[in-house]
Amino acid sequence: MATGKINVSVDNIFPLIKKFLYSDHEIFLRELISNATDATLKMKHLTTIGEAKVDYGNPLIEVKIDKEGKKLHIIDQGLGMTEEEVKKYINEVAFSGAEEFLNKYEDSAKDSGIIGHFGLGFYSAFMVANKVEIITKSYKDEPAVHWSCDGSPEFVMEEAQKDTRGTEIILHIADDSTEFLEDGKIKSLLSKYNKFMPIPIKFGMKTETLPKPEGAKKEDPAPTVEVDNIINNPNPAWTKQPADLKSEDYKSFYRELYPMQFEEPLFHIHLNVDYPFNLTGILYFPKLSNDLNQQKDRIQLYQNQVFVTDNVEGIVPEFLTMLRGVIDSPDIPLNVSRSYLQADGAVKKISSYITRKVADKLNSLFKNNREEFEAKWNDIKIVIEYGMLSEDKFFEKADKFALYPTVDDSYFTFEELQEKIKATQTDKDGKTVILYASDKEAQHSYIETAKAKGYEVLLLDSPIIGHLIQKLESSKENISFARVDADHIDKLIQKEETQISKLSDEEKETLKTELEKVIGEKSSYTVQLEAMDSDASPFTITEPEFMRRMKEMQQTGGGGGMFGMGAMPEMYNLIVNTNNELVSEILNTKTAKKKERLINQSLDLAKLSKGLLKGKDLTEFIKRSYEMVK
Ligand code: ADP
Ligand code: MG
Repeated sequence: MATGKINVSVDNIFPLIKKFLYSDHEIFLRELISNATDATLKMKHLTTIGEAKVDYGNPLIEVKIDKEGKKLHIIDQGLGMTEEEVKKYINEVAFSGAEEFLNKYEDSAKDSGIIGHFGLGFYSAFMVANKVEIITKSYKDEPAVHWSCDGSPEFVMEEAQKDTRGTEIILHIADDSTEFLEDGKIKSLLSKYNKFMPIPIKFGMKTETLPKPEGAKKEDPAPTVEVDNIINNPNPAWTKQPADLKSEDYKSFYRELYPMQFEEPLFHIHLNVDYPFNLTGILYFPKLSNDLNQQKDRIQLYQNQVFVTDNVEGIVPEFLTMLRGVIDSPDIPLNVSRSYLQADGAVKKISSYITRKVADKLNSLFKNNREEFEAKWNDIKIVIEYGMLSEDKFFEKADKFALYPTVDDSYFTFEELQEKIKATQTDKDGKTVILYASDKEAQHSYIETAKAKGYEVLLLDSPIIGHLIQKLESSKENISFARVDADHIDKLIQKEETQISKLSDEEKETLKTELEKVIGEKSSYTVQLEAMDSDASPFTITEPEFMRRMKEMQQTGGGGGMFGMGAMPEMYNLIVNTNNELVSEILNTKTAKKKERLINQSLDLAKLSKGLLKGKDLTEFIKRSYEMVK
């Protein structure tokens, strides 16, 4: 028997380990299973290259709870360790790793920015155990070793009785960590961290039903057997070659990742690159709603099939965090904060690779099956629009396949749209005006008016569309967007020829004065007289585009307190069609009272059409209208 003192400057490192990683105690299991996996894969390698003349067999890793003994066992059939190796790897190397970790992260360990805690390795066992034993037998012809340590730097090492190759780690679970003796807890940890690890992991037994033997009677129960309960899938889809997978395989892997998700993904992207960095993975486009916040954090990050985190912020661009799936890369540094991560060269490359792959996939879907792409557009547009807004590289690519649907469900690319409306919607200054609606129901009458004039009206209803419109306006020449209710159409798309007004200048002057008198001088409505078709609406309310955009930006927080202003003032135009019969009638009405009534009723109708008539005004309007129809 040998005893010794682990060479370390800190007297008792274990309480420190415990303290620093208080929030992440559970990762000890991931670390120990990673070690067991490494040891098994090393064994496989040694037998493959003929270095070890032993039978590799079908090794598995077993996790066993001994509730009474308050012990947790992790047993592998890997390459094991000789006495020399335990001294070297456990007493020296592993410990220096732990110490280095503590020195490095003394200040920042509490910073939630640290992802995972790789590198702490074996000694993370002391976060949950007050004593740890190792019983190990090397594949080399040397006696087995029993090492134990009770949480002080002192350890005991002696010869052990173990005939089979491999390592057993025994954790004597501390009183404050007894949750790790619960089946349910261990099961959930195994499925969180080890679901896709490359070596089968056994946790308990399970009952399997066998087919009934021939000639069995109907009422005979089917025979059952007890078999190892393997909790992981050692060969997940992303580790395979795309050519070996069918579309059904991708779908079933999606169900494996998200068992509670009943909706199928719209399509997938298989990531597979080994130079200049190593990355594999599968990303899925789920059906996305317009809610930006509720759908993040579904991509899982792995390193060599070991789960690391489901917060990939900083590793994939923000707009892609709405996707789902798996990214596996050994090249992503993990012991660093998020802000460092974003500055890391390798991570930047990975991020732009993923962006490019996503853009390429979308582009090929668009090119190869436009119909299907259009059908899916509304479920995926939020990601694409968000990406176009936030990543210039993506904008460049997406500009070719991003779609602009009309209120009648035609889908144009930007180029197609421009081509289509160039002749009809370009004003005399050469600017093409793109009309859009954000709500088909609320803006119905405006949409109809625009369509009657032969204009295309887009339906753009994403929450971020306002920002994207601004980006398009600033990056493309001679175009501008206007919502259908932004200004009077004829005013927006000014042509050389204008309609002749039925009213004389003098009559117009009188009409304007009288309207303003009734509406009130300080009201938020500016009266504008326009000569239009006689059957066009007599009164229309519009809201200047810039005014509405400012208001919207304030609402979405973009311009909160912009220019130090409070709430934006209400500002509307009241467009009066001087060629409409009702307008002439108002002008020619002799009694002042009747005239006032006509104006008020007309204004209310215009407000109603724009959805501005509410509360008391609406109640009174309805009352008045009943009086009139009586
Ligand atoms: P790392 O895994 O990063 O090398 P650890 O602290 O987890 O650091 O482990 C230290 C070393 O101890 C390993 O590199 C390995 O040589 C050895 N080791 C740990 N667990 C096992 C095991 N189950 N079988 C064989 N060797 C092991
Ligand atoms: Mg390790």
